[in-house]
Amino acid sequence: MRIAEIFYSVQGEGCLVGVPSVFVRTSGCNLRCSWCDTPYTSWNPEGEELSVDVVLERAATFPAARHIVLTGGEPMIASGIVQLSQRFRERGTHVTIETAGTVWAEVACDLMSISPKLSNSTPEGVFRAQHEKLRLQPSVLRTLTGAYEYQLKFVVARAEDVAEICALVTELGAPPGKVILMPEGVEADVLRERGVWIADICKEHGFRFSPRLHVDLYGNRRGV
Ligand code: SF4
Repeated sequence: MRIAEIFYSVQGEGCLVGVPSVFVRTSGCNLRCSWCDTPYTSWNPEGEELSVDVVLERAATFPAARHIVLTGGEPMIASGIVQLSQRFRERGTHVTIETAGTVWAEVACDLMSISPKLSNSTPEGVFRAQHEKLRLQPSVLRTLTGAYEYQLKFVVARAEDVAEICALVTELGAPPGKVILMPEGVEADVLRERGVWIADICKEHGFRFSPRLHVDLYGNRRGV
């Protein structure tokens, strides 16, 4: 499988924010978000081909970690993802999978962290039509939310995103407590400005607010 990076950090987003975790970032994505913060896994995919055994070995170099996060890119399209998730689970590791929720694979997973992509993600240019066609797959979202413990994590850039979020949450029948809103952005002042009005939206709807802790702590860098 093609791996962009493996590193040990604290989870920066969602309901497990702050939990020390090993991140395994697969390279390759079926989407092309305009604001993608890991373009080295989507627009310009980089990485080395590693076997499942080597990924497990490298993750084991951080023995204090009890949590593993399989992220991307889109980890659900990575070859070997099912086996890798199962092997981590067999070790007793808590497995989070961070996905856009457009593809189904029978992975082993303790938390399916689904980040459906809103229209604010659609790029201009040659990838526009493909991205727009693929970005929301309600039947896959229903299957994932039915099969796993999950969170729905939305990247919010503008106030009008809320209508799209509410429509999708209603369509999926997801309780507000599973819905997490997070500001779009990789600069501290942008995150702070957006965070203020997004927190108000969370209060109004009973959603949860998520910071981007890794950006607050380390800035917009790889491997953190
Ligand atoms: S789904 Fe994630 S990795 Fe893929 S383009 Fe969008 S933000 Fe980037």
